[in-house]
Amino acid sequence: MAKVNRNYLKLPDSYLFSRIGKKVREYGAAHPEARIIRLGIGDVTQPLAPAVISALQDAVEEMGKGETFRGYAPDLGYEFLRVAAAENDYRMRGCSISPDEIFISDGAKCDCGNLQEIFGTDNTIAVCDPVYPVYVDSNVMAGRTGEYDRSTGRFRNVIYLPCRAENGFVPELPGEVPDLIYLCFPNNPTGAVITKERLQQWVDYANEHGSVILYDAAYEAYISDEKIPHSIYECEGARTCAIEFRSFSKTAGFTGLRLGFTVVPEDLLVEGVALHSLWARRHGTKYNGAPYIVQRAGEAVYSEEGKRQGQAQIAYYMENAGIIAGELKAAGYEVSGGINAPYIWLRTPGSMTSWEFFDYLLEEANVVGTPGSGFGPNGEHYFRLTAFGSRENTIEAMERIRTMQTGAQ
Ligand code: PLP
Repeated sequence: MAKVNRNYLKLPDSYLFSRIGKKVREYGAAHPEARIIRLGIGDVTQPLAPAVISALQDAVEEMGKGETFRGYAPDLGYEFLRVAAAENDYRMRGCSISPDEIFISDGAKCDCGNLQEIFGTDNTIAVCDPVYPVYVDSNVMAGRTGEYDRSTGRFRNVIYLPCRAENGFVPELPGEVPDLIYLCFPNNPTGAVITKERLQQWVDYANEHGSVILYDAAYEAYISDEKIPHSIYECEGARTCAIEFRSFSKTAGFTGLRLGFTVVPEDLLVEGVALHSLWARRHGTKYNGAPYIVQRAGEAVYSEEGKRQGQAQIAYYMENAGIIAGELKAAGYEVSGGINAPYIWLRTPGSMTSWEFFDYLLEEANVVGTPGSGFGPNGEHYFRLTAFGSRENTIEAMERIRTMQTGAQ
Protein backbone atom coordinates (compact mmCIF):
# COMPACT_ATOMS: atom_id res chain seq x y z
CA MET A 1 0.00 0.00 0.00
CA ALA A 2 1.29 3.45 -0.85
CA LYS A 3 2.28 5.70 2.02
CA VAL A 4 2.48 9.48 2.05
CA ASN A 5 5.47 11.45 3.26
CA ARG A 6 4.11 12.10 6.73
CA ASN A 7 6.53 14.97 7.24
CA TYR A 8 4.20 17.05 5.06
CA LEU A 9 1.48 16.57 7.68
CA LYS A 10 3.65 18.38 10.22
CA LEU A 11 3.42 21.64 8.25
CA PRO A 12 1.17 24.04 10.16
CA ASP A 13 -1.93 25.41 8.40
CA SER A 14 -1.69 26.66 4.86
CA TYR A 15 1.09 28.66 3.37
CA LEU A 16 1.00 32.27 4.56
CA PHE A 17 0.16 33.78 1.19
CA SER A 18 -2.70 31.34 0.56
CA ARG A 19 -4.30 32.52 3.80
CA ILE A 20 -3.84 36.15 2.81
CA GLY A 21 -5.26 35.44 -0.65
CA LYS A 22 -8.32 33.76 0.86
CA LYS A 23 -9.01 36.66 3.23
CA VAL A 24 -8.64 39.21 0.42
CA ARG A 25 -10.92 37.23 -1.91
CA GLU A 26 -13.59 36.95 0.79
CA TYR A 27 -13.36 40.66 1.59
CA GLY A 28 -13.50 41.55 -2.13
CA ALA A 29 -16.57 39.35 -2.65
CA ALA A 30 -18.36 41.01 0.28
CA HIS A 31 -17.28 44.54 -0.79
CA PRO A 32 -17.21 44.56 -4.61
CA GLU A 33 -16.86 48.37 -4.63
CA ALA A 34 -13.55 48.29 -2.70
CA ARG A 35 -10.40 49.14 -4.69
CA ILE A 36 -7.90 46.95 -2.90
CA ILE A 37 -4.21 47.91 -3.08
CA ARG A 38 -1.80 45.02 -2.62
CA LEU A 39 1.46 45.80 -0.88
CA GLY A 40 1.72 42.29 0.52
CA ILE A 41 3.34 39.65 -1.67
CA GLY A 42 6.87 40.49 -2.80
CA ASP A 43 6.14 40.46 -6.52
CA VAL A 44 7.41 43.14 -8.87
CA THR A 45 5.13 45.28 -11.04
CA GLN A 46 7.45 47.06 -13.49
CA PRO A 47 7.76 45.55 -17.00
CA LEU A 48 11.00 43.91 -18.12
CA ALA A 49 13.73 46.30 -19.24
CA PRO A 50 14.13 46.95 -23.01
CA ALA A 51 17.60 45.31 -23.03
CA VAL A 52 16.06 42.12 -21.61
CA ILE A 53 13.16 42.14 -24.07
CA SER A 54 15.51 42.62 -26.98
CA ALA A 55 17.72 39.70 -25.83
CA LEU A 56 14.63 37.52 -25.48
CA GLN A 57 13.48 38.42 -28.98
CA ASP A 58 16.91 37.67 -30.47
CA ALA A 59 17.04 34.34 -28.67
CA VAL A 60 13.54 33.42 -29.87
CA GLU A 61 14.71 34.13 -33.44
CA GLU A 62 17.72 31.85 -32.89
CA MET A 63 15.47 29.06 -31.66
CA GLY A 64 13.48 29.28 -34.91
CA LYS A 65 16.48 28.57 -37.16
CA GLY A 66 18.15 25.18 -37.66
CA GLU A 67 21.70 26.61 -37.40
CA THR A 68 21.11 28.37 -34.09
CA PHE A 69 18.46 26.19 -32.46
CA ARG A 70 19.42 24.92 -28.95
CA GLY A 71 18.12 21.86 -27.15
CA TYR A 72 18.94 20.88 -23.59
CA ALA A 73 21.16 23.40 -21.78
CA PRO A 74 24.47 22.29 -20.21
CA ASP A 75 23.97 20.94 -16.67
CA LEU A 76 25.45 23.97 -14.88
CA GLY A 77 23.85 26.47 -17.27
CA TYR A 78 25.26 28.26 -20.33
CA GLU A 79 28.81 29.44 -19.98
CA PHE A 80 28.00 32.94 -21.31
CA LEU A 81 25.75 33.53 -18.29
CA ARG A 82 28.02 31.91 -15.71
CA VAL A 83 30.95 34.00 -16.99
CA ALA A 84 28.89 37.21 -16.84
CA ALA A 85 27.73 36.44 -13.29
CA ALA A 86 31.22 35.50 -12.07
CA GLU A 87 32.61 38.71 -13.55
CA ASN A 88 29.92 41.18 -12.49
CA ASP A 89 28.61 39.73 -9.24
CA TYR A 90 31.92 38.46 -7.88
CA ARG A 91 35.20 39.50 -9.53
CA MET A 92 34.12 43.14 -9.74
CA ARG A 93 33.39 43.03 -5.99
CA GLY A 94 36.75 41.49 -5.18
CA CYS A 95 35.40 37.94 -4.64
CA SER A 96 37.03 34.90 -6.08
CA ILE A 97 34.27 32.75 -7.60
CA SER A 98 34.82 30.94 -10.88
CA PRO A 99 32.09 30.40 -13.52
CA ASP A 100 32.29 26.65 -12.80
CA GLU A 101 31.17 27.26 -9.23
CA ILE A 102 27.92 28.84 -10.46
CA PHE A 103 24.86 26.65 -11.07
CA ILE A 104 22.14 28.34 -13.13
CA SER A 105 18.56 27.54 -12.15
CA ASP A 106 15.04 28.83 -12.56
CA GLY A 107 15.11 30.79 -9.31
CA ALA A 108 16.25 31.00 -5.73
CA LYS A 109 13.09 29.53 -4.20
CA CYS A 110 13.70 26.14 -5.84
CA ASP A 111 17.38 26.25 -4.95
CA CYS A 112 16.77 27.24 -1.30
CA GLY A 113 14.20 24.47 -1.06
CA ASN A 114 16.21 21.82 -2.90
CA LEU A 115 19.70 22.40 -1.60
CA GLN A 116 18.98 20.80 1.77
CA GLU A 117 18.74 17.46 -0.09
CA ILE A 118 22.52 17.13 -0.27
CA PHE A 119 22.74 17.16 3.54
CA GLY A 120 21.83 14.26 5.83
CA THR A 121 18.45 14.39 7.52
CA ASP A 122 20.23 14.35 10.89
CA ASN A 123 21.68 17.84 10.36
CA THR A 124 20.31 20.53 12.66
CA ILE A 125 19.25 23.80 11.09
CA ALA A 126 19.23 27.35 12.40
CA VAL A 127 16.99 30.03 10.95
CA CYS A 128 16.31 33.63 11.75
CA ASP A 129 12.99 34.33 13.41
CA PRO A 130 11.13 35.91 11.58
CA VAL A 131 12.18 34.16 8.36
CA TYR A 132 11.30 33.53 4.70
CA PRO A 133 9.09 30.40 5.20
CA VAL A 134 10.71 28.26 2.47
CA TYR A 135 13.81 27.43 4.55
CA VAL A 136 11.89 25.81 7.40
CA ASP A 137 9.11 24.27 5.31
CA SER A 138 11.50 22.51 2.92
CA ASN A 139 13.36 21.06 5.91
CA VAL A 140 10.06 19.94 7.46
CA MET A 141 9.29 18.05 4.24
CA ALA A 142 12.69 16.36 4.50
CA GLY A 143 12.03 15.28 8.10
CA ARG A 144 14.79 17.37 9.62
CA THR A 145 12.82 19.59 11.98
CA GLY A 146 10.98 17.33 14.46
CA GLU A 147 7.39 17.99 15.43
CA TYR A 148 5.63 21.33 15.31
CA ASP A 149 4.78 22.73 18.72
CA ARG A 150 1.59 24.75 18.41
CA SER A 151 2.07 26.43 21.78
CA THR A 152 5.35 28.04 20.68
CA GLY A 153 4.74 28.15 16.92
CA ARG A 154 8.08 26.40 16.46
CA PHE A 155 9.53 23.08 15.35
CA ARG A 156 11.27 21.24 18.17
CA ASN A 157 14.58 20.50 16.42
CA VAL A 158 15.10 23.89 14.76
CA ILE A 159 17.37 26.50 16.32
CA TYR A 160 15.60 29.83 16.02
CA LEU A 161 17.68 32.98 16.01
CA PRO A 162 15.55 35.88 17.28
CA CYS A 163 15.75 39.03 15.15
CA ARG A 164 14.17 41.86 17.09
CA ALA A 165 14.44 45.62 17.33
CA GLU A 166 16.95 45.20 20.23
CA ASN A 167 19.51 43.44 17.99
CA GLY A 168 18.73 45.53 14.92
CA PHE A 169 17.03 42.45 13.40
CA VAL A 170 20.44 40.77 12.96
CA PRO A 171 20.82 37.46 14.84
CA GLU A 172 23.44 36.73 17.51
CA LEU A 173 25.72 33.71 17.17
CA PRO A 174 23.93 30.72 18.73
CA GLY A 175 25.21 28.90 21.84
CA GLU A 176 23.98 25.55 20.51
CA VAL A 177 25.92 24.90 17.30
CA PRO A 178 23.74 24.24 14.21
CA ASP A 179 24.99 22.18 11.27
CA LEU A 180 23.25 24.34 8.67
CA ILE A 181 22.64 28.07 9.11
CA TYR A 182 20.25 29.97 6.86
CA LEU A 183 21.01 33.68 6.61
CA CYS A 184 19.30 36.16 4.30
CA PHE A 185 20.52 39.74 3.83
CA PRO A 186 19.06 42.16 2.83
CA ASN A 187 16.39 40.39 4.81
CA ASN A 188 12.95 39.32 3.87
CA PRO A 189 10.77 40.18 5.80
CA THR A 190 12.50 42.76 8.06
CA GLY A 191 14.45 44.69 5.41
CA ALA A 192 17.51 44.58 7.72
CA VAL A 193 21.06 44.36 6.38
CA ILE A 194 24.21 42.93 7.93
CA THR A 195 27.57 44.70 8.14
CA LYS A 196 30.69 43.02 6.81
CA GLU A 197 32.06 42.74 10.36
CA ARG A 198 28.97 40.92 11.63
CA LEU A 199 28.88 38.65 8.59
CA GLN A 200 32.58 37.89 9.08
CA GLN A 201 31.74 36.72 12.63
CA TRP A 202 29.26 34.23 11.18
CA VAL A 203 31.80 32.99 8.64
CA ASP A 204 34.43 32.55 11.38
CA TYR A 205 31.88 30.77 13.57
CA ALA A 206 30.90 28.39 10.74
CA ASN A 207 34.52 27.59 9.89
CA GLU A 208 35.37 27.03 13.53
CA HIS A 209 32.43 24.67 14.17
CA GLY A 210 32.13 22.93 10.79
CA SER A 211 28.73 24.47 10.03
CA VAL A 212 27.60 25.43 6.53
CA ILE A 213 25.97 28.83 5.91
CA LEU A 214 23.23 28.93 3.28
CA TYR A 215 23.30 32.61 2.35
CA ASP A 216 20.32 34.03 0.49
CA ALA A 217 21.35 37.21 -1.33
CA ALA A 218 18.17 37.53 -3.42
CA TYR A 219 17.91 41.25 -2.58
CA GLU A 220 21.57 42.28 -2.84
CA ALA A 221 20.81 44.63 -5.76
CA TYR A 222 18.84 46.86 -3.36
CA ILE A 223 21.90 47.70 -1.26
CA SER A 224 22.88 51.34 -1.67
CA ASP A 225 25.17 51.68 1.35
CA GLU A 226 28.71 51.04 0.11
CA LYS A 227 29.81 49.46 3.38
CA ILE A 228 27.20 46.68 3.27
CA PRO A 229 28.38 43.41 1.65
CA HIS A 230 26.51 42.16 -1.43
CA SER A 231 27.92 38.66 -1.15
CA ILE A 232 29.08 36.43 1.70
CA TYR A 233 32.23 35.80 -0.37
CA GLU A 234 33.34 39.33 0.48
CA CYS A 235 34.23 37.79 3.86
CA GLU A 236 37.50 35.97 4.35
CA GLY A 237 37.10 32.20 4.61
CA ALA A 238 33.57 32.05 3.17
CA ARG A 239 34.67 29.72 0.38
CA THR A 240 35.11 26.91 2.91
CA CYS A 241 31.78 27.33 4.71
CA ALA A 242 29.17 29.09 2.56
CA ILE A 243 26.76 28.50 -0.30
CA GLU A 244 25.07 31.55 -1.83
CA PHE A 245 21.70 31.91 -3.56
CA ARG A 246 21.05 34.61 -6.14
CA SER A 247 17.91 35.52 -8.02
CA PHE A 248 17.09 37.65 -11.07
CA SER A 249 13.54 38.08 -9.75
CA LYS A 250 13.96 41.28 -7.78
CA THR A 251 17.21 42.37 -9.44
CA ALA A 252 15.68 42.53 -12.91
CA GLY A 253 11.95 41.78 -12.60
CA PHE A 254 12.24 38.09 -13.61
CA THR A 255 9.57 36.78 -11.20
CA GLY A 256 7.55 35.58 -14.20
CA LEU A 257 10.50 34.77 -16.45
CA ARG A 258 12.36 32.68 -13.77
CA LEU A 259 16.12 32.72 -13.39
CA GLY A 260 18.58 32.41 -10.53
CA PHE A 261 21.77 30.67 -9.54
CA THR A 262 23.53 29.04 -6.64
CA VAL A 263 27.23 29.29 -5.88
CA VAL A 264 28.91 26.24 -4.39
CA PRO A 265 32.67 26.83 -4.04
CA GLU A 266 34.90 23.88 -4.82
CA ASP A 267 36.73 24.32 -1.48
CA LEU A 268 33.57 23.61 0.51
CA LEU A 269 34.00 20.15 2.02
CA VAL A 270 31.78 18.38 4.52
CA GLU A 271 33.11 15.13 5.98
CA GLY A 272 35.74 15.29 3.25
CA VAL A 273 33.10 15.39 0.49
CA ALA A 274 32.96 18.34 -1.94
CA LEU A 275 29.45 19.78 -1.83
CA HIS A 276 30.08 21.08 -5.35
CA SER A 277 30.11 17.53 -6.70
CA LEU A 278 26.98 16.56 -4.77
CA TRP A 279 25.04 19.58 -6.01
CA ALA A 280 26.29 18.96 -9.57
CA ARG A 281 25.01 15.39 -9.28
CA ARG A 282 21.67 16.52 -7.93
CA HIS A 283 21.33 19.27 -10.53
CA GLY A 284 22.19 16.88 -13.37
CA THR A 285 19.82 14.20 -12.12
CA LYS A 286 16.71 16.20 -11.29
CA TYR A 287 16.91 19.36 -13.37
CA ASN A 288 17.19 20.07 -17.09
CA GLY A 289 18.09 23.73 -16.94
CA ALA A 290 16.57 27.18 -17.32
CA PRO A 291 15.40 27.93 -20.89
CA TYR A 292 18.02 29.18 -23.34
CA ILE A 293 16.05 32.32 -24.11
CA VAL A 294 15.81 33.15 -20.40
CA GLN A 295 19.52 32.62 -19.88
CA ARG A 296 20.18 35.02 -22.78
CA ALA A 297 17.82 37.50 -21.07
CA GLY A 298 19.85 37.04 -17.89
CA GLU A 299 23.06 37.77 -19.80
CA ALA A 300 21.49 41.04 -20.99
CA VAL A 301 20.96 42.10 -17.37
CA TYR A 302 24.76 42.35 -17.13
CA SER A 303 25.15 44.46 -20.30
CA GLU A 304 25.82 48.19 -19.82
CA GLU A 305 22.33 49.02 -21.02
CA GLY A 306 20.78 46.25 -18.92
CA LYS A 307 22.60 47.44 -15.79
CA ARG A 308 21.46 51.02 -16.32
CA GLN A 309 17.85 50.01 -16.93
CA GLY A 310 17.87 47.58 -13.98
CA GLN A 311 19.24 50.23 -11.65
CA ALA A 312 16.49 52.60 -12.76
CA GLN A 313 13.85 50.01 -11.82
CA ILE A 314 15.42 49.46 -8.44
CA ALA A 315 15.59 53.22 -7.89
CA TYR A 316 11.87 53.41 -8.68
CA TYR A 317 11.02 50.75 -6.09
CA MET A 318 13.34 52.29 -3.54
CA GLU A 319 11.64 55.64 -4.00
CA ASN A 320 8.40 53.83 -3.13
CA ALA A 321 10.16 52.41 -0.06
CA GLY A 322 11.15 55.93 0.97
CA ILE A 323 7.56 57.16 0.56
CA ILE A 324 6.16 54.26 2.62
CA ALA A 325 8.72 54.58 5.42
CA GLY A 326 8.43 58.37 5.53
CA GLU A 327 4.62 58.41 5.60
CA LEU A 328 4.43 55.69 8.24
CA LYS A 329 6.92 57.47 10.47
CA ALA A 330 4.98 60.72 10.07
CA ALA A 331 1.83 58.84 11.12
CA GLY A 332 3.59 57.69 14.30
CA TYR A 333 4.53 54.12 13.37
CA GLU A 334 7.77 52.49 14.47
CA VAL A 335 9.42 51.57 11.15
CA SER A 336 12.58 49.80 10.02
CA GLY A 337 13.94 48.45 6.71
CA GLY A 338 13.23 50.16 3.40
CA ILE A 339 16.73 51.67 3.05
CA ASN A 340 18.83 48.86 1.54
CA ALA A 341 15.86 46.56 0.95
CA PRO A 342 12.42 46.76 -0.68
CA TYR A 343 10.66 45.71 2.54
CA ILE A 344 9.30 47.98 5.24
CA TRP A 345 8.83 46.39 8.64
CA LEU A 346 6.51 48.23 10.98
CA ARG A 347 5.35 47.65 14.53
CA THR A 348 1.61 47.23 14.81
CA PRO A 349 -0.14 49.94 16.84
CA GLY A 350 -0.87 49.35 20.53
CA SER A 351 -1.30 45.69 21.37
CA MET A 352 -2.76 44.68 17.99
CA THR A 353 -1.55 41.32 16.73
CA SER A 354 -0.18 41.08 13.20
CA TRP A 355 -3.37 39.42 11.89
CA GLU A 356 -5.60 41.94 13.70
CA PHE A 357 -3.66 44.71 11.98
CA PHE A 358 -3.99 42.87 8.66
CA ASP A 359 -7.80 42.81 9.02
CA TYR A 360 -7.86 46.38 10.24
CA LEU A 361 -5.81 47.64 7.31
CA LEU A 362 -7.86 45.65 4.82
CA GLU A 363 -11.16 46.92 6.21
CA GLU A 364 -10.24 50.53 6.96
CA ALA A 365 -7.86 51.30 4.09
CA ASN A 366 -8.41 48.42 1.64
CA VAL A 367 -4.65 47.91 1.74
CA VAL A 368 -3.11 44.44 1.90
CA GLY A 369 0.17 43.78 3.68
CA THR A 370 1.74 40.70 5.25
CA PRO A 371 1.34 39.85 8.95
CA GLY A 372 4.75 39.54 10.61
CA SER A 373 3.66 36.51 12.65
CA GLY A 374 3.40 34.55 9.40
CA PHE A 375 7.21 34.66 9.27
CA GLY A 376 7.72 33.30 12.80
CA PRO A 377 6.83 34.00 16.45
CA ASN A 378 9.21 36.97 16.67
CA GLY A 379 7.34 38.56 13.78
CA GLU A 380 4.26 38.92 16.01
CA HIS A 381 3.21 42.58 16.44
CA TYR A 382 5.02 43.41 13.19
CA PHE A 383 3.77 43.89 9.66
CA ARG A 384 5.50 43.90 6.27
CA LEU A 385 4.77 46.27 3.41
CA THR A 386 6.58 46.02 0.09
CA ALA A 387 7.90 48.70 -2.22
CA PHE A 388 7.01 46.72 -5.35
CA GLY A 389 3.70 48.47 -6.09
CA SER A 390 3.20 51.19 -8.68
CA ARG A 391 3.99 54.75 -7.55
CA GLU A 392 0.35 55.70 -7.86
CA ASN A 393 -0.84 52.79 -5.68
CA THR A 394 1.93 53.35 -3.15
CA ILE A 395 1.00 57.01 -2.70
CA GLU A 396 -2.70 56.23 -2.51
CA ALA A 397 -2.16 53.42 0.01
CA MET A 398 -0.17 55.76 2.23
CA GLU A 399 -2.83 58.46 1.99
CA ARG A 400 -5.44 55.94 3.06
CA ILE A 401 -3.30 54.71 5.97
CA ARG A 402 -2.65 58.28 7.09
CA THR A 403 -6.37 59.04 7.25
CA MET A 404 -7.43 55.79 8.93
CA GLN A 405 -9.46 56.24 12.07
CA THR A 406 -7.09 55.33 14.91
CA GLY A 407 -3.63 55.76 13.42
CA ALA A 408 -0.61 54.46 15.29
CA GLN A 409 -1.11 56.01 18.74
N1 PLP B 1 14.67 34.24 -1.31
C1 PLP B 1 13.99 35.21 -0.70
C2 PLP B 1 14.48 35.73 0.59
C3 PLP B 1 12.81 35.69 -1.25
O1 PLP B 1 12.13 36.65 -0.63
C4 PLP B 1 12.36 35.19 -2.49
C5 PLP B 1 11.12 35.66 -3.12
O2 PLP B 1 10.33 36.37 -2.64
C6 PLP B 1 13.10 34.19 -3.07
C7 PLP B 1 14.25 33.74 -2.47
C8 PLP B 1 12.61 33.55 -4.34
O3 PLP B 1 13.25 34.01 -5.45
P1 PLP B 1 12.93 33.44 -6.89
O4 PLP B 1 11.85 34.26 -7.48
O5 PLP B 1 14.23 33.54 -7.60
O6 PLP B 1 12.51 32.00 -6.75
